[in-house]
Amino acid sequence: MKKQFAVIGLGRFGGSICKSLMNEGMDVLAIDQDEEKVNEFASIATQAVIADSTDEKALKSLGIRNFDHVVVAIGDNIQASILTTLILDEMKVKHITVKAQNDYHETVLNRIGAHEIVHPERDMGIRIAHNVVSDNVLDYLELSDEHSIVELAAGPTIDGKTIVDLDVRSTYGCNILAIKRNEELTVSPEPEVKLYEGDILIIIGADADISRLESYWIDEN
Ligand code: ATP
Repeated sequence: MKKQFAVIGLGRFGGSICKSLMNEGMDVLAIDQDEEKVNEFASIATQAVIADSTDEKALKSLGIRNFDHVVVAIGDNIQASILTTLILDEMKVKHITVKAQNDYHETVLNRIGAHEIVHPERDMGIRIAHNVVSDNVLDYLELSDEHSIVELAAGPTIDGKTIVDLDVRSTYGCNILAIKRNEELTVSPEPEVKLYEGDILIIIGADADISRLESYWIDEN
Protein backbone atom coordinates (compact mmCIF):
# COMPACT_ATOMS: atom_id res chain seq x y z
CA MET A 1 0.00 0.00 0.00
CA LYS A 2 1.15 3.55 -0.74
CA LYS A 3 2.57 5.49 2.20
CA GLN A 4 0.44 8.40 3.35
CA PHE A 5 2.32 11.66 3.94
CA ALA A 6 1.15 15.02 5.25
CA VAL A 7 3.20 18.19 4.80
CA ILE A 8 2.37 21.14 7.05
CA GLY A 9 3.65 24.49 5.74
CA LEU A 10 3.97 24.98 2.00
CA GLY A 11 6.89 27.43 1.86
CA ARG A 12 9.93 26.67 -0.34
CA PHE A 13 11.02 23.70 1.80
CA GLY A 14 7.60 22.14 2.48
CA GLY A 15 6.52 22.83 -1.09
CA SER A 16 9.56 21.14 -2.52
CA ILE A 17 9.08 18.08 -0.24
CA CYS A 18 5.45 17.88 -1.32
CA LYS A 19 6.37 17.98 -5.04
CA SER A 20 9.17 15.41 -4.64
CA LEU A 21 6.91 12.99 -2.74
CA MET A 22 4.25 13.30 -5.44
CA ASN A 23 6.92 12.60 -8.09
CA GLU A 24 7.81 9.46 -6.11
CA GLY A 25 4.17 8.37 -6.43
CA MET A 26 3.21 8.90 -2.77
CA ASP A 27 -0.08 10.20 -1.42
CA VAL A 28 0.38 13.68 0.08
CA LEU A 29 -1.98 15.84 2.08
CA ALA A 30 -0.70 19.43 1.82
CA ILE A 31 -1.68 21.74 4.68
CA ASP A 32 -1.22 25.49 5.08
CA GLN A 33 -3.10 28.26 6.79
CA ASP A 34 -2.59 30.49 3.78
CA GLU A 35 -5.35 30.06 1.19
CA GLU A 36 -3.13 31.17 -1.70
CA LYS A 37 -0.57 28.46 -0.91
CA VAL A 38 -3.28 25.84 -0.66
CA ASN A 39 -4.73 26.88 -4.03
CA GLU A 40 -1.25 26.65 -5.55
CA PHE A 41 -0.89 23.05 -4.28
CA ALA A 42 -4.44 21.94 -5.08
CA SER A 43 -3.31 20.64 -8.46
CA ILE A 44 0.03 19.27 -7.16
CA ALA A 45 -0.77 17.31 -3.98
CA THR A 46 -3.29 14.46 -3.60
CA GLN A 47 -5.31 16.86 -1.46
CA ALA A 48 -4.62 20.39 -0.22
CA VAL A 49 -6.43 21.94 2.73
CA ILE A 50 -6.46 25.22 4.61
CA ALA A 51 -5.86 24.61 8.32
CA ASP A 52 -4.01 26.09 11.26
CA SER A 53 -1.87 23.22 12.54
CA THR A 54 -1.78 24.68 16.05
CA ASP A 55 -5.51 23.94 16.22
CA GLU A 56 -5.78 20.42 17.63
CA LYS A 57 -9.38 20.00 16.50
CA ALA A 58 -8.49 20.93 12.93
CA LEU A 59 -5.70 18.31 12.85
CA LYS A 60 -8.00 15.68 14.38
CA SER A 61 -10.69 16.31 11.80
CA LEU A 62 -8.08 15.75 9.06
CA GLY A 63 -7.36 12.33 10.60
CA ILE A 64 -3.68 13.25 10.89
CA ARG A 65 -2.92 10.39 13.30
CA ASN A 66 -3.54 7.86 10.53
CA PHE A 67 -0.75 9.25 8.33
CA ASP A 68 2.50 7.28 8.13
CA HIS A 69 4.71 10.35 8.13
CA VAL A 70 4.05 14.02 8.87
CA VAL A 71 6.55 16.74 7.89
CA VAL A 72 6.33 20.04 9.79
CA ALA A 73 7.84 22.63 7.47
CA ILE A 74 6.88 25.80 9.31
CA GLY A 75 9.92 28.05 9.43
CA ASP A 76 9.73 31.53 10.85
CA ASN A 77 7.00 30.90 13.39
CA ILE A 78 8.96 28.71 15.84
CA GLN A 79 6.12 28.79 18.35
CA ALA A 80 3.68 27.34 15.80
CA SER A 81 6.23 24.68 14.78
CA ILE A 82 6.71 23.60 18.42
CA LEU A 83 3.01 23.56 19.24
CA THR A 84 2.22 21.59 16.07
CA THR A 85 4.91 19.00 16.91
CA LEU A 86 3.56 18.69 20.44
CA ILE A 87 0.03 18.03 19.16
CA LEU A 88 1.29 15.46 16.61
CA ASP A 89 3.28 13.70 19.35
CA GLU A 90 0.26 13.61 21.64
CA MET A 91 -1.78 12.11 18.80
CA LYS A 92 0.93 9.44 18.50
CA VAL A 93 1.72 10.11 14.84
CA LYS A 94 4.10 7.33 13.71
CA HIS A 95 6.83 9.48 12.20
CA ILE A 96 7.28 13.23 12.66
CA THR A 97 9.97 15.16 10.78
CA VAL A 98 10.40 18.82 11.66
CA LYS A 99 12.38 21.62 10.05
CA ALA A 100 14.43 23.43 12.71
CA GLN A 101 15.26 27.09 12.40
CA ASN A 102 18.12 27.15 14.93
CA ASP A 103 19.80 25.10 17.70
CA TYR A 104 17.40 26.33 20.38
CA HIS A 105 14.48 25.20 18.23
CA GLU A 106 16.16 21.81 17.71
CA THR A 107 16.69 21.29 21.48
CA VAL A 108 13.02 21.90 22.16
CA LEU A 109 11.91 19.68 19.26
CA ASN A 110 14.08 16.85 20.55
CA ARG A 111 12.39 17.03 23.94
CA ILE A 112 8.83 17.07 22.65
CA GLY A 113 8.82 14.04 20.40
CA ALA A 114 10.10 14.99 16.93
CA HIS A 115 11.53 11.78 15.44
CA GLU A 116 13.71 13.52 12.91
CA ILE A 117 14.93 17.11 12.79
CA VAL A 118 16.29 18.69 9.64
CA HIS A 119 18.18 21.94 9.07
CA PRO A 120 17.94 22.50 5.32
CA GLU A 121 19.52 25.97 5.30
CA ARG A 122 22.42 24.99 7.58
CA ASP A 123 23.08 21.71 5.72
CA MET A 124 22.98 23.42 2.35
CA GLY A 125 25.36 26.10 3.71
CA ILE A 126 27.84 23.41 4.77
CA ARG A 127 27.58 21.66 1.40
CA ILE A 128 28.10 24.87 -0.54
CA ALA A 129 31.02 25.88 1.71
CA HIS A 130 32.77 22.58 0.92
CA ASN A 131 32.11 23.18 -2.75
CA VAL A 132 33.55 26.66 -2.85
CA VAL A 133 36.57 25.95 -0.64
CA SER A 134 37.85 23.25 -2.93
CA ASP A 135 37.42 22.99 -6.69
CA ASN A 136 37.73 19.22 -6.35
CA VAL A 137 34.75 18.79 -4.03
CA LEU A 138 31.63 18.55 -6.17
CA ASP A 139 29.19 17.47 -3.50
CA TYR A 140 29.18 16.70 0.18
CA LEU A 141 26.90 14.80 2.52
CA GLU A 142 27.41 14.95 6.29
CA LEU A 143 26.76 11.51 7.85
CA SER A 144 27.63 12.45 11.43
CA ASP A 145 29.69 15.12 13.22
CA GLU A 146 32.84 13.32 12.05
CA HIS A 147 32.02 11.36 8.90
CA SER A 148 30.96 12.36 5.42
CA ILE A 149 30.51 11.21 1.86
CA VAL A 150 32.09 13.49 -0.76
CA GLU A 151 32.20 13.59 -4.53
CA LEU A 152 35.75 14.47 -5.59
CA ALA A 153 36.94 15.21 -9.09
CA ALA A 154 40.09 13.21 -9.83
CA GLY A 155 43.03 15.48 -10.71
CA PRO A 156 46.16 14.71 -12.79
CA THR A 157 48.02 13.34 -9.73
CA ILE A 158 46.06 10.14 -9.83
CA ASP A 159 45.60 9.85 -13.59
CA GLY A 160 46.27 6.27 -14.72
CA LYS A 161 46.77 4.89 -11.20
CA THR A 162 44.76 2.02 -9.76
CA ILE A 163 42.97 2.06 -6.42
CA VAL A 164 45.67 -0.33 -5.13
CA ASP A 165 48.44 2.07 -6.31
CA LEU A 166 46.80 4.92 -4.42
CA ASP A 167 46.23 2.80 -1.33
CA VAL A 168 43.34 5.07 -0.40
CA ARG A 169 42.16 2.86 2.47
CA SER A 170 45.39 2.39 4.40
CA THR A 171 47.03 5.73 3.57
CA TYR A 172 43.97 7.92 4.08
CA GLY A 173 41.48 5.69 5.94
CA CYS A 174 38.86 6.41 3.24
CA ASN A 175 36.92 4.10 0.93
CA ILE A 176 35.93 4.69 -2.69
CA LEU A 177 32.23 3.78 -2.88
CA ALA A 178 31.78 4.43 -6.58
CA ILE A 179 33.32 5.99 -9.69
CA LYS A 180 31.36 8.12 -12.15
CA ARG A 181 32.85 8.28 -15.64
CA ASN A 182 30.97 9.71 -18.61
CA GLU A 183 27.61 9.30 -16.88
CA GLU A 184 28.42 5.65 -16.09
CA LEU A 185 28.53 4.63 -12.43
CA THR A 186 30.70 1.78 -11.14
CA VAL A 187 29.64 0.87 -7.61
CA SER A 188 32.20 -0.79 -5.26
CA PRO A 189 35.02 -0.66 -7.85
CA GLU A 190 37.58 -3.47 -7.87
CA PRO A 191 41.03 -2.50 -6.50
CA GLU A 192 42.61 -3.03 -9.94
CA VAL A 193 40.37 -0.42 -11.60
CA LYS A 194 42.40 2.45 -13.12
CA LEU A 195 41.35 6.02 -12.35
CA TYR A 196 41.61 8.85 -14.83
CA GLU A 197 41.63 12.63 -14.56
CA GLY A 198 38.04 13.84 -14.73
CA ASP A 199 36.61 10.76 -13.01
CA ILE A 200 34.28 11.61 -10.17
CA LEU A 201 35.03 9.57 -7.07
CA ILE A 202 32.43 9.06 -4.37
CA ILE A 203 34.35 8.66 -1.13
CA ILE A 204 33.31 7.85 2.44
CA GLY A 205 35.49 8.54 5.48
CA ALA A 206 36.22 10.61 8.56
CA ASP A 207 36.27 14.35 7.80
CA ALA A 208 39.92 14.68 8.85
CA ASP A 209 40.93 11.81 6.54
CA ILE A 210 38.92 13.18 3.62
CA SER A 211 40.60 16.56 4.15
CA ARG A 212 44.07 14.98 4.00
CA LEU A 213 43.14 13.14 0.84
CA GLU A 214 41.69 16.31 -0.73
CA SER A 215 44.75 18.38 0.09
CA TYR A 216 47.06 15.72 -1.33
CA TRP A 217 45.18 15.73 -4.61
CA ILE A 218 44.89 19.50 -4.72
CA ASP A 219 48.50 20.20 -3.66
CA GLU A 220 49.85 17.89 -6.30
CA ASN A 221 47.68 19.39 -9.06
P1 ATP B 1 10.71 28.37 3.45
O1 ATP B 1 12.11 28.84 3.78
O2 ATP B 1 10.57 26.89 3.38
O3 ATP B 1 10.07 29.10 2.30
P2 ATP B 1 10.06 29.68 5.85
O4 ATP B 1 11.18 29.13 6.67
O5 ATP B 1 10.15 31.10 5.39
O6 ATP B 1 9.78 28.73 4.64
P3 ATP B 1 7.47 30.26 6.67
O7 ATP B 1 7.24 31.02 5.42
O8 ATP B 1 7.45 30.96 7.96
O9 ATP B 1 8.75 29.41 6.62
O10 ATP B 1 6.39 29.07 6.74
C1 ATP B 1 6.20 28.16 5.72
C2 ATP B 1 4.70 27.99 5.49
O11 ATP B 1 4.09 27.52 6.69
C3 ATP B 1 3.98 29.26 5.10
O12 ATP B 1 3.32 29.04 3.85
C4 ATP B 1 2.99 29.50 6.23
O13 ATP B 1 1.74 29.99 5.75
C5 ATP B 1 2.81 28.11 6.80
N1 ATP B 1 2.41 28.14 8.21
C6 ATP B 1 2.97 28.87 9.22
N2 ATP B 1 2.33 28.64 10.37
C7 ATP B 1 1.34 27.73 10.11
C8 ATP B 1 0.32 27.10 10.88
N3 ATP B 1 0.18 27.33 12.19
N4 ATP B 1 -0.52 26.23 10.26
C9 ATP B 1 -0.39 25.97 8.94
N5 ATP B 1 0.54 26.54 8.15
C10 ATP B 1 1.39 27.41 8.71
